[in-house]
Amino acid sequence: MIDTTDINKSNKEYANPAMHTAEHILNQTMVRMFGCQRSRNSHIERKKSKCDYYLNEAPTQEQLAEIENTVNDIISKNLPVTISFVSKENVPDEIDLNKLPENVSETLRIVSVGDYDKCACIGEHVKNTSEIGRFKILTTDYTDGRLRLRFKVEQ
Ligand SMILES: [Zn+2]
Repeated sequence: MIDTTDINKSNKEYANPAMHTAEHILNQTMVRMFGCQRSRNSHIERKKSKCDYYLNEAPTQEQLAEIENTVNDIISKNLPVTISFVSKENVPDEIDLNKLPENVSETLRIVSVGDYDKCACIGEHVKNTSEIGRFKILTTDYTDGRLRLRFKVEQ
């Protein structure tokens, strides 16, 4: 499934391709585990990053460990990160184009992490998940349905 969330982000959030590519994998992992949306207000920096997810209840320690393990599992598969282009007319029906900015071009740039994740994104990514390093959750807090997850990647 292709998601268009990431297309709204500004360029400065893509300063770190490894961290940002890890964010794609984290987003897909959260969608699969919790059925939530991808993070809409991620803040990606070289040292640490944060993503917010809206969940009905706080994840358990076991679930947090599973998130971390799953992301590292995908990273360790050395998956290629590839770019493809699809015209707006050919975007699959399940994509909500209302989320796209008005001025979006007729062609969407789709970033795929192996066959694990696909989303529309204008950012910079590594070419292979082997370049990401190890994903680590630093802290989490859960308030009023919002899980804020801070993480880093390290070699
Ligand atoms: Zn991206």
